[in-house]
Amino acid sequence: MRNEIHFECPRCKQVVTPKLGLNRKGNKPEKLYCPSCGRTIKDFYNAWPGAIAIFVVLAILAYLRFGQP
Ligand SMILES: [Zn+2]
Repeated sequence: MRNEIHFECPRCKQVVTPKLGLNRKGNKPEKLYCPSCGRTIKDFYNAWPGAIAIFVVLAILAYLRFGQP
């Protein structure tokens, strides 16, 4: 069973397995990048605040919808 991720890079158009890049300290994964051309595919550091913001909005909507009689 293969569990590798295959991804078509938007820059070099090659199907690659994204590499995990660490932060400067080397203790946390920071981004996924293309091993062929080095383009950043997914940046965890920038993605988290957006994900948290979406979660907060959903929580507020759920409260407004279900939290009142
Ligand atoms: Zn690439």
